[in-house]
Amino acid sequence: AAEEGFDIEDVEGAIEEAGHGPLPVLAVVGRPNVGKSTLVNRIIGRREAVVEDKPGVTRDRVTYEAEWSGSRFKLVDTGGWEQDVLGIDASVAAQAEYAIEAADAVVFVVDSTVGATDTDQAVVRLLRKAGKPVVLCANKVDGLSGEADATALWSLGLGEPHPVSALHGRGTGDMLDAVIEALPEAPRMTFGGAVLGGPRRIALIGRPNVGKSSLLNKVANEDRVVVNQIAGTTRDPVDELIQLGGVVWKFVDTAGIRKRVHLQQGADYYASLRTAAAVEKAEVAVVLIDVSESISVQDQRIVTMAVEAGRALVLAFNKWDTLDDERRYYLEREIETELAQVAWAPRVNVSALTGRHMEKLVPAIETAIEGWETRVPTGRLNAFLGELVSSHPHPIRGGKQPRILFGTQAGTKPPRFVLFASGFIEHGYRRYVERRLREEFGFEGTPIHISVRVRE
Ligand code: GDP
Ligand code: GDP
Repeated sequence: AAEEGFDIEDVEGAIEEAGHGPLPVLAVVGRPNVGKSTLVNRIIGRREAVVEDKPGVTRDRVTYEAEWSGSRFKLVDTGGWEQDVLGIDASVAAQAEYAIEAADAVVFVVDSTVGATDTDQAVVRLLRKAGKPVVLCANKVDGLSGEADATALWSLGLGEPHPVSALHGRGTGDMLDAVIEALPEAPRMTFGGAVLGGPRRIALIGRPNVGKSSLLNKVANEDRVVVNQIAGTTRDPVDELIQLGGVVWKFVDTAGIRKRVHLQQGADYYASLRTAAAVEKAEVAVVLIDVSESISVQDQRIVTMAVEAGRALVLAFNKWDTLDDERRYYLEREIETELAQVAWAPRVNVSALTGRHMEKLVPAIETAIEGWETRVPTGRLNAFLGELVSSHPHPIRGGKQPRILFGTQAGTKPPRFVLFASGFIEHGYRRYVERRLREEFGFEGTPIHISVRVRE
């Protein structure tokens, strides 16, 4: 590295940064109007149309990446759901429950100008049961005079209330210090109580009515085993062990699949939150797409959620029994145009109704996991990169030719590469490198991350 003009510490730093595993997850929960969205905006440091939301407008972005004092984490925002759907207590509790389930730590936001309400108390009970670390945010303490209101929140029994003004930024730094303290340093070792290294975890996701619960029933037959339950608020099983192809798999978050609550307004947001939580808990996402209808923006968003979360991906085209020749013709074109960004994902064409091609599901999942865990030895990677650079050099820009000098795979699940270059590598060339990497090493069913460091 040194003779290529890179400082060895830079190289090591870049590899470590790119090689991080899954980020710890922080959920922000609390009643409506306590300032959750304002706080989320402040933490992520940008305004992503969170507060501007009009009631009833679908918001499907519920997780954001954030950083404080060099620690990175994922933020799950629960601010986007209209409270009048279920009645305030139930809706706040339901939201909090999903967010808490997916989280490693929780920020509980209370409006200190109002004080602790019955709804707040209900959330406190949930938090106690979940046993996750909680940071209590006493919000709307805009000035010194509000500090007393914050102190009163000791009564919640959640420890020190952190006086904060999400609106003006007051106190947020101290609160975030407490958050970083509460988050596990390494990515969590358990998911829903199960130790990593147990059965592979599958999230079966897709928009409503694509056939998720039908598929689950079909594959499960009589073999389903409930592995755990969320304490308290629900008796629905969360995760289920199902034996398929001679292997036991854990289907995560199956309660969400069975639609225990029927919602009209806010249902999309509810579904997004649930999907995000399931994806967080899983290694593989099986996205169901209903072939009897056109591939929709919502289908694409769900696929994107899985890709952005860095999960292995299988596309299952369900209701194949409904296809006629004409629809099939259009479907193939839709797949080419609407799902081009995941052309690398294994596809299975199934029918939960007839059982068609159910046996192809497991091999597809196994292929995706294999790609997701692939590690390319540094020697092989550099031989490949050397060949690629000489056979297909980067276009010359401003009289110079940026070159990829060397690279390494910094991590797996999904594969992450760091390439070191002598100049700026254009987007098109990065895409070319990714395509060639896939041709050479497989990576079927997995997103891959490529970051490029440029020599100073
Ligand atoms: P959410 O429903 O919990 O997401 O709450 P919002 O973030 O939408 O905030 C509700 C209202 O409280 C908005 O009008 C905010 O401007 C206001 N708000 C949020 N944080 C603060 C704060 O720290 N101080 C004051 N005075 N108002 C705040
Ligand atoms: P979910 O909302 O994704 O869980 O979808 P469901 O499993 O509840 O299915 C929605 C509807 O599609 C139900 O009426 C199912 O009977 C139907 N359905 C599910 N899978 C298939 C399939 O493979 N073929 C056909 N024709 N209908 C299906």
